Formats: sequence, C-alpha cells, structure tokens
Amino acid sequence: MSPPQDQHIAHAARLSEAIAALPDLARRIAFILEAVHGRIAFATSLGLEDQVVLSAIDRVDLQNRIEPFVLDTGRHFPETLDLLARSEARFSRRIRVYAPEARAVEDLIQRDGVAGFRLSVEARKACCHVRKVEPLKRALQGAAAWITGLRRGQSAGRGDVAFAEWDAEFGLLKFNPIADWSLAQVEAYLRDHEVPVNALHAQGFPSIGCQPCTRAIRPGEDIRAGRWWWESEDGKECGLHKSPARNASQNQPAEIRR
Ligand code: SF4
Repeated sequence: MSPPQDQHIAHAARLSEAIAALPDLARRIAFILEAVHGRIAFATSLGLEDQVVLSAIDRVDLQNRIEPFVLDTGRHFPETLDLLARSEARFSRRIRVYAPEARAVEDLIQRDGVAGFRLSVEARKACCHVRKVEPLKRALQGAAAWITGLRRGQSAGRGDVAFAEWDAEFGLLKFNPIADWSLAQVEAYLRDHEVPVNALHAQGFPSIGCQPCTRAIRPGEDIRAGRWWWESEDGKECGLHKSPARNASQNQPAEIRR
C-alpha cells in the first residue's frame, strides 16, 4: 500500500530543503538522480529554461536515466520542431515525442471548430487537455518523478514553485531544479554553454507555446503576456502544472521584458 498523501508531501518538503542548499544546478540534478529510485521523466517544452535543464542533465546523467520528452500538440511553430531536431543532435539523446490521440483531436474539432480554443476559457482548456494533459498522463505513467524547468519569476502564478513537491494530480514527485533562477541567470547559462535555443526568442517571443496561442510581446510586458493573450491574467496555465498550495494572489510579480 502506498503511503498517505501527507507523508509524500513531507518527503517532498525535505527534498526541497536539501536542493535549496545546493547552489549548483549540476549538483541539484545529481541529487535528484540519487534521491529517486525508479523512472525519472523530464518534460521539456524546448523553452529557454528547459534548454538549461536539458544541458545540465546531459552533463550529469551519463547513464541516460532521465528520459526527456516533449508534447507535440500538432500546433507548434516550425522553429520549435527545428529546435527539437537541433537539440537531439547537440546532446546525442532522443527526446521522446508524445502526440495527442487522433480520435480525441477529431472529436474536439468536430465539436468546437478548428479555432474553437478562442471561444471561451473552457474551450481553450479542453483543447489543452486533449493536446497536452492527456499525453502528459501517458508520458508520466509508471514514473517515480518528473523534472520541469519551472521558475518562480516566470509568472505571478508560479511565484511559489518549490524545488520539490508532491504532485498529487499525477501521483509522483515533481522537481523544479531552477525554481529560484532569474531570467538573467538562464540567459547567461545558455550563452556560456552555447546551448541551442528557439529562433523565435530573438523576435520577441520569450515564452513559446502553440502557434495560434502565442504572440510576440512588447517592452514592459510580462514575459508570459504573449501566451493566450486574449484571456485575463488569472490562471493562464494549460493544466500541466497544478499545485494545491499555489495561490496567485500571494505571489511576486512576474519578470517583464526590457
Ligand atoms: S495552447 Fe492553444 S492550440 Fe495549444 S493545446 Fe492549448 S489551446 Fe490548443
């Protein structure tokens, strides 16, 4: 029988504290490898932060224990798919691609139309569910832990991201090893390690999701302002990153583009 939720939560809190004491990303990844007995998945959207984490995993995880994967929603920019190929070549490891179920996509479009995600927040979340959340469930099946590139400074809703948390939604540990990094640290790491990045970043896209749901941002805007820009700021997430403890009203302001 698996331990009760509060034991999982307390265990994650201890891991989080231990990671907080490690200043170096490589040591944080090494710590995760030691702490987790079982399959570890790394969810990458090929964003700036995920490229940092992928690069660190490549340097530390010499036995390829950590399995990187990407959710191919079928709506990505060509530049994102190009980066997927360049990243595999650069790091000599396969990034597993999870696609949505064809029948579920067909039914969704039959019901809401090809651009139905603009009809309402509910319709948008239904699209994210079919194209992202359901494939994510398959990607995490049987895993003991997953790693993300979430940072507290990315948006108001991510201000309290922990280094380790119990992900009750999917029933496994979730590690966010660069939770405390600033955007400047991310950019410096990418530069110093010559990590490939999405060509769209140089065109005003700091945060890149699906093509129809992402626009370039202007100076002074929140770095995630270009995601689902027609919706209000509250709860602009796709359902991949939920936390019962997360409360947007208590969070720090997000980073802005200068
Ligand atoms: S980001 Fe847009 S296109 Fe992509 S899954 Fe969500 S609603 Fe659908």
